[in-house]
Amino acid sequence: MQDDMSGRTHHNAHHGIVENGRTHLRDLSLTELREFVERLEEPRYRYRQLVSWLYEKLADDFLEMTDLPMSLRETLGRNAEVSSLRGATMQVSKIDDTRKYLFELRDGKFVESVMMRHGHRLTLCISSQVGCPMDCRFCQTSKGVFQRNLKSGEILDQICHLKQDCRDDADKVNIVFMGMGEPLLNYRSLVQVIGTLNDADGLEMGSKRITVSTSGLPRRMKNLANEGIKCSLAVSLNATTDDQRRRLMPAVSRHSLKDTIDAARYFAERTGRRVTLEYVLLKGENTSYEDAHRLGKISRKGPFKINLIPYNPGRDPEFDTLSEDELDRFIQVLLPYSPTLTVRRSKGPDIFAACGQLWNQSLGHKKEPAEGT
Ligand code: SAH
Repeated sequence: MQDDMSGRTHHNAHHGIVENGRTHLRDLSLTELREFVERLEEPRYRYRQLVSWLYEKLADDFLEMTDLPMSLRETLGRNAEVSSLRGATMQVSKIDDTRKYLFELRDGKFVESVMMRHGHRLTLCISSQVGCPMDCRFCQTSKGVFQRNLKSGEILDQICHLKQDCRDDADKVNIVFMGMGEPLLNYRSLVQVIGTLNDADGLEMGSKRITVSTSGLPRRMKNLANEGIKCSLAVSLNATTDDQRRRLMPAVSRHSLKDTIDAARYFAERTGRRVTLEYVLLKGENTSYEDAHRLGKISRKGPFKINLIPYNPGRDPEFDTLSEDELDRFIQVLLPYSPTLTVRRSKGPDIFAACGQLWNQSLGHKKEPAEGT
């Protein structure tokens, strides 16, 4: 049984079954994985072995699972798959070792993920959708056509693939849902993924190490607070008035700033976790003296912290970036309001791996420009 967003429940017997009739194991919740093993009429401890190969030892193939009898490995090979990713290419930044991955999915569509190093910490930036329907003016992902939600298994495959690549540092991994897509529009899959990340049988990661970043869907932010899963929330505020937000983030601005901030406060109060307000600095659009004051006041409306993000120009930038001096002046106004203020420095500039730059131009899924432009 599974709940969907409308609150109805329905049987989902074929959950995780892919077109070729094989079950994608990372698409199953851990409860469903347990049931899958039971249906194979194998001893119960096989679940433990299998789950450890999937999420701890990060196997690519059933043949690697050497503590399973060969006959079982063959049965699994016929009926199931470990990963849904068909191909992966990686680019490494010469400047800071940031890695950008391009994955081919089963249906020939592509998504990108990024692995960044901050000292001893590793951050995996994961996609939740192929493309994004939100149409935020400053974000490169909105230049491509939105195609579909990712399945839970496809999200976990990205994480497992990147983790495989950094085995030595695996205990210092953070996951941020800040890649392509609006995670809260793929709500059920997101919640299932976080459940697996939290679970001691899965990746055993707590709320400090998992961040969901949303453009701001108030009802779903509140739902997420009520799920009883462990994750942190970041909200891409990016404006201090409703008018500004309508210009910069047209799709999400049908929700007022007030409702967005109320939902952020609800999340913080319900979970006991401070919510991050993200703010992309777009020179001349949202960076005035008044904006800094208004942002400061907003930051006092709840247990919030502010993360300023200097604008990352894409290949054809539509906004200007603040100079260091201008950034400093903005911060000086803001600081008295908000002592927990951070600035996000972009990574991997030479491979276009920074926030808002994920969208692979070679794929040809470009939106047609409107007539006359
Ligand atoms: N849809 C989600 C997650 C993906 S965007 C969201 O909106 O939060 C992740 C972050 O990158 C958001 O805070 C977004 O505002 C920011 N971002 C998008 N384009 C950017 C750009 N060109 N420069 C800097 N940050 C950008």
